Parts: sequence; structure tokens; C-alpha cells
Amino acid sequence: MHRPDDTPLMQQWRDAKARHPDALIFFRVGDFYEMFHEDAEEGAKLLGLTLTSRNNGGAANVPLAGVPARARDEYIRRLVRLGRRVAICEQVEDPAEAKGIVRREVTETITPGTALADALLSARRNNFLVALGGAWESGGPAADGDGIALAAVDASTGELLAIAADARTLEAELARLEPAELLLPRRLEGQMPPGAEGVVVTYRPDFLFDPESATEELCRRFHVRGLDGFGIERGDGAIVSALGALVAYLAEVQPAAVENLRPPRIERPGEGMALDEMTRRNLELVEPLRADAVAGGRAGTLIEVVDETLTPMGARLLRRWLLRPLVVADAIWRRQEAVAELVDAVGVRRALVAALAEITDLERLAAKVGAGRIAPRELRALGRSLAQLPRLRAAFEAPTAPLLREVVGELDDLADVRDLIDAAIAPDAPATLAEGGVIRAGYDAELDELRAVRDGAQETIAALQARERERTGIPSLKVGYNKVFGYYLEVTRANLDRVPEDFQRKQTLAGSERFITPELKEWESKILGAEDRIAALEARLYAELRERIARELARLQDAARRVALLDVFTALARLAERRAYVRPEVHTGYALEIRAGRHPVVETMMPREAFIPNDVVLDEDSRIMVLTGPNMAGKSTLLRQVGLIQLLAQIGSFVPAAAARLPVCDRIFTRVGASDNLVRGQSTFMVEMNETAAILHGATSRSLVLLDEIGRGTATYDGVSIAWAVTEHLHEVTRAKTIFATHYHELTQLADLLPALVNCNVAVRETGDDIVFLRRLEPGGADRSYGIQVARLAGLPAAVLERAREILLELEGAHAGGGEGLGRRGRLRPRSGASHDQLSLFQPPEPPVLQRLRSLDVEGLTPLQALNLLAELRAEARGGKEEA
Ligand code: ADP
Ligand code: MG
Repeated sequence: MHRPDDTPLMQQWRDAKARHPDALIFFRVGDFYEMFHEDAEEGAKLLGLTLTSRNNGGAANVPLAGVPARARDEYIRRLVRLGRRVAICEQVEDPAEAKGIVRREVTETITPGTALADALLSARRNNFLVALGGAWESGGPAADGDGIALAAVDASTGELLAIAADARTLEAELARLEPAELLLPRRLEGQMPPGAEGVVVTYRPDFLFDPESATEELCRRFHVRGLDGFGIERGDGAIVSALGALVAYLAEVQPAAVENLRPPRIERPGEGMALDEMTRRNLELVEPLRADAVAGGRAGTLIEVVDETLTPMGARLLRRWLLRPLVVADAIWRRQEAVAELVDAVGVRRALVAALAEITDLERLAAKVGAGRIAPRELRALGRSLAQLPRLRAAFEAPTAPLLREVVGELDDLADVRDLIDAAIAPDAPATLAEGGVIRAGYDAELDELRAVRDGAQETIAALQARERERTGIPSLKVGYNKVFGYYLEVTRANLDRVPEDFQRKQTLAGSERFITPELKEWESKILGAEDRIAALEARLYAELRERIARELARLQDAARRVALLDVFTALARLAERRAYVRPEVHTGYALEIRAGRHPVVETMMPREAFIPNDVVLDEDSRIMVLTGPNMAGKSTLLRQVGLIQLLAQIGSFVPAAAARLPVCDRIFTRVGASDNLVRGQSTFMVEMNETAAILHGATSRSLVLLDEIGRGTATYDGVSIAWAVTEHLHEVTRAKTIFATHYHELTQLADLLPALVNCNVAVRETGDDIVFLRRLEPGGADRSYGIQVARLAGLPAAVLERAREILLELEGAHAGGGEGLGRRGRLRPRSGASHDQLSLFQPPEPPVLQRLRSLDVEGLTPLQALNLLAELRAEARGGKEEA
């Protein structure tokens, strides 16, 4: 790696770069972190820095870009947000003592998935590093491949998680983790698992994913002989592989965080609902669909409305619940009970709110203690949060809901840790240890004594100054201090003749001179020595304290988990009260019945009571609702509202309705047709069809399927045909509860053919040329599209509207007169073979050639006439051109 013409500094840089080829090297030079060569070029572009160059000895100039050391974190934050890794290469010896060039080493690597600093994290969501194990690359949607697993770690909280998945759920599981960084084996470079688009990928050596070496790695890290204690079984090769690769990487990049890791929690399929990426997006659970939304903003999302949590742990937990609803009725009921109890017990809730509001990020603070990164002020915050734990327990007389009993009953209030922090840390502890004054008076006798010496300084100085004034007769004589000369006596020029023998001159200023005396010098060494010893002693005491608390890490983490749960239950109870939600009756049967349901997000965007509630019933006899109505009527809103109510019920929440009976769904699928999908406006018809295919493969009779304008991305006939076939399949094969919103009012004819399909429409009232949106769901299909009225509302010029109306009349007239349409010709013949006389989808004018054929008297033709006629008809069919 060394090049003969490199300066020693450049050689150091090359060494660092060789060891961290994927990272931008922040190379400390004086007050700057410099980037060189390709790093400089990339860094300058990403950060908007000026690219300059540095003379590299005799050789060519080296590209260079630098950031000031004090602004380092801000630049790192931006790079990490952009998905880049940064390696910090520090000066590891004092420049004053270095012989030759200062030694430098990479002291820290920062990657999106392993970040620990607050500035790089968002408090209300987890930051997961994810590794993928097993042979996912060979599985297609059809290959019900087993042995795929994801392992995830949040280095900032110490949580470790492994998820057994298969080819079908992989994408959804990835989506719910929202990985900040993904680890894949090197052999798969260039291949991306589905759903990982846009995620920062780090390729790791293949052997790290090998189950055997992964097992060794895990046993070593967790100090165990085997993995069965974690619930890992034979045949869990993929889980072990993912976990091992994950932990090995973390140990390399962020060794301190490995010390904190909780034992892995293993999640098996069937415990939670996999919500695929499109459903999560279309229902706007945690991020808005609007393309113009500020990145990371959550206005208009479900989480923004329902998140009433008061602590960061609670916020993170709620987000995870939303992204992974429950699928076991019993688990849902248990959560419901806890929420219901807090809805009713107003006093308890109020007491919980008061305590929770005072609790900071216990979980991340605990992790920082474990990693040895906690600052004094944070330790105090930890102590203050712990002080609230007894208040949480005292809020209840005796909880009745089993979950609340579990959470509160064994809540350890960590009084010992809190007392320790209280006793050791000064109430006004500064942000950093270096500022001093961290350890509280009375905690350590030696420290108190040293401080007495130092604090006596003021008095000693005052006394000494008074004595010297008297001795010399100079009333303006002063004792002062500066960093270079230490303590001194200052005499103004006018009084210099009165300075005694034993004053030694130290420094001459414009209007005065500064002196020292042996007495002052001796006293100074005592004082300054005390200062150094105080700093050293404080550092030692602080480290000891941190280690003692670190020994209680598991207890802290457990308390944090319980606080998070209480916070979420309290939040859901407050939500129910604040927005008038009701407890849904969740059952294991089929029917979904919502009385006066509301869209939880849209209702908050309008004045109170302005939102029109609607009833929706989907049961064995009416499995599929075809929802018609003009644009802007409220179809999409109603469709999503059903999905959101169902989802809220399955996290254990109350729901925005007057009453609801809801089944437990195994999946919720939501698809939005290509041209109606705002964000993926670029998305093609192909994508839409892929997604529809995935539903038809994945949905069961226990699923809820919400289709919004599917089939719109292509020509009308194709679109109607596809929508038709999809609906038939859902009706007859899948038997999933389905709402299909469409502006193809032609689809309403399906109700005559499919017994469990009902038509509904979102009503509008026509008054003259205007329409009024009633937002009310009514039985029956919409008869027309009202496109022109909507266009009018949108402000299309009157002349254009007038012409459109003319054309519409003409088209309608033509269809009406045409006799038999598409249906007759069998293109949309129902599969069931039911009567299709009612089918009159489109009725384009019949070509004359058909009319001639129909009126033909075949028996009355001679063979020659027949032959001639045939040629004639062919010519006509070809548009009048006869071929030889
Ligand atoms: P569609 O899908 O039929 O074109 P949308 O569902 O997008 O219509 O609804 C259009 C607008 O109508 C929404 O943005 C919302 O402001 C309003 N809206 C929809 N449903 C209701 C309702 N039930 N009550 C009040 N306003 C509604
Ligand atoms: Mg719509």
C-alpha cells in the first residue's frame, strides 16, 4: 500500500484506508478532519465542501476536503443519513511528545446500522441493523422455501431479535424492520432480496454466515455452551447464521455495544401479521404517501394520530406494534383488556401520565451505561427517570387486567441504583466529565479534602493580597491568574518604585508589571496540584460508578420494557378517550361489521363532526363489496378506513367507530392501481399486476383485501377485464373479505353473477349541472361516472365542458343503439356460466359486415355466390382493400 513518493502522513492515510476500504476516512490533522483522494471527491460532493489539493511531497497534488473538528458530528450525521460509513482516524499521541509524525489510528467506525450517538438516531423509532441468513436467493414467490431468517439488532438499545421467515414473508418482515443497514454474504454481491431496495448494504465474508462458525461466535459472545437456552433448535441454521453474522459485525464496528446485547428473542411465523411494503405505504401507517411530503415527516399518517406516548421507548414500541399487528385472538384480547382498564380508570391514567411524562429514554440511557458512553448529565436524567418508577406502581391500587398485573406487579423500581446515582452525582452535574464538578460533595472523603484546598484558594488569595498591600503600601496591588504564568502579583507603573526586593519580575504589560514571590509560588503548586488530582479522582470515581450501574443492566432493561408497555397502554387509552374510539368485539369468526366507522386520520383533518361515518358489513353472504362512485366521492377513504380500523383492532387498540365486530385477519392487503398511486406515479402497469398476483397467491379466506382502482393502468377494456377476473377469483377461490373501489361502474354488473358480491356506492346528489358529495355509503352501484361534473368542480373552462357533454351524449347514444355488446361476444363471459343476458358492458356500434353476416340467407346461395360473397366480406373486413 505504501508508495515511495508518499509523505509519511499520506502513508498513514493509506494504511487506514486499506483497513476500511468502504468507509470515508475522517483523518485528524490539527483542528480539522481531512478527507483525501477519492474520499475527498465523494465527501466534497455529498457535503457541499470545497475540493482543494494538498502538496504531497514531491509527488502530484492530492485532492483534499476538510471539515472543522468541532463541527464533525454534524457532517457525520449527514453522511450517515446518506447511507455512508465514516471511519474516524484520530491522533493517538500528544503532538508535543511525538517523535516525528503523530501516530494515528481509526478509533471509531460509524455506519447507519450501528450508530449510537443521539444525533444519528431518532428517539421515536428503532434503528435496526439487519442480517439475512439462509438461501433466500433461490426462493421465488412460488417456492415455499424454508430456512430464511432475519436477525436484527438495535445497537442503541441492546435489543437482539431473530425472525424465522420464508420466501413469501421475507419482504414483509424486512419492511417492518425498516433496516438502516443490511448485511449480506459477499457471494451474493449484486443480488438484492425483495423489499431491500434503497437500503444500505454491507457485504461480509461468506464464512461469517456459516452456521457452524456463527454458533461459535454466539456462544463466545453470550458466554454459553449451546444455543438451546435461547429457544434455538436444530434446523434453525438460517437463524444462527443471521445472528452470528450480525453479532460478529457489531463486535467489529461497535465493540462497546456488544457488551449490552440482550439474549436474542426468536420470533416464529404465526405470531404476528406480516404487512407488506405496499400495504404499509398505502395505509400510510408510518409515512405519508404524498410525494411532496418532507422526508421523515409523518403528517397525515396513522402513527401521527394515534401516538399519544410520552416516552421514547413507548413511541418505539407503538410503532413496532403498528407495523406488526397480532394474529392470535387471545393476545389481542389481553391487550384490549389492559387498554380498557385504563380507559375506565381515569385517576390511574392521570397518575400514570404524570409519572411517564417525567421519564426519559431509560432504554437508551441504560445501553449507554453498558457501552461506557454515558455523560454525567445523562446519568442524572437516568436517576430522575428511575425516581418515577415507584410512582408508576403507586398509580394503581391493584390492576385487574392480566397484562397490567404482569407489567406492574414485577416492576423493579431500582431504588438501589437511583440512590447510588443520587449520592454520587452532583445535582448540577455538567454535560461532560471534563468540565469537573461531577461527583457530589460528601460522596468521597479524599475528593472533598482536595476540593477544600482548591476552594480555600479564594480566601487565601484575598488574605495574601491584603497582606502584600499592607507590606508594600500599594493599595492597588492585585493577585491574578493566567494559564501561561500561573498566579502573579500585579503592580501599576506608577507604583513600581515601592516594589520590595523579594518580588521577581515575570511579565511586563503596557500599564503594569507582574511579579511572583516564593510564598505565592509554593501555594500555587498546592492549588494546581489539587486541580489535577481532583480531575483524576473524579474520573476514577465516575468510571467505578458507571461499572457498578452497568452490572444492573439487565434490571434496567427490564424496567425500560415495562415502562414502554405501560406507556403504550396509557397512550391507547388516552387516544380512545380523546377521539371517542370504542372497544371492538374481536372474534375468530368471519364477519366484519363496522357501525358508523370513521377514517382515523382524515377525520382529524376536518372540523369536528364534519366527517361522515359509514357502516360496512362483510360477511359470508357478502364477501366482496364493489364500491363505485365518481372521483372524489370518498371511495378510497372508505376503503382505507376499513383497513385501518381492522389494523388498529389487531394491535389491541380501540377503533374509530360507534361499534365494531371484527374478525382476526391473517393478512391485510392493500393495493392501489397504478395511476391512482401518487407516490409511485412512475410505477408501471406491470408493477400493479405483480402486486395483484402476490395478493391472489397470498390471500386466504381469513384475509382482508382492499383493492383501489386496480386495472386502471391500462386501456379500459383490458382494465375492466382484469378487474373482472380478479374479482371472480377472489369470490370463488380465495373467499377473502374484499372491498374493490372502482370508477368502472361497469363492474357493478358482477353482482348479478356472483352471489356473495354486493354493490355499494358513495352517494352524490345531482342538482342541475352540479354534484354534491354526500360521503354516504349506499347499497347499489353508481350508474355513471359524473366525470364531467367533477371536472367542472375542478374549474375546467365552460366551453370544454360543453363540448365534453356533447361527446358523451354521442357516445352514449351510439352504445345504446348498437344492440349487442362485449358481453354477448363472450369476451367477458362469466366463468360460472350463469345467465349473462344482463351483460351489456360496452356497446360499440356494430360493424356493417356483421350486420350483413347476420342477415345472410345461407341456404339461398349458390356455391359460386357464396364464394364471391366470402371474398367481398373479407374485403370489407379488411377495410375495402382486395388482394389478388
Ligand atoms: P375517491 O377515492 O372516491 O376519489 P377520496 O376517498 O379520495 O375519493 O375522497 C376525496 C375527499 O373527500 C377526501 O380527501 C376527503 O377530504 C373527503 N372525504 C372522503 N370521505 C369523507 C367522509 N366520510 N366524510 C367527509 N369527508 C370525506
Ligand atoms: Mg380514490
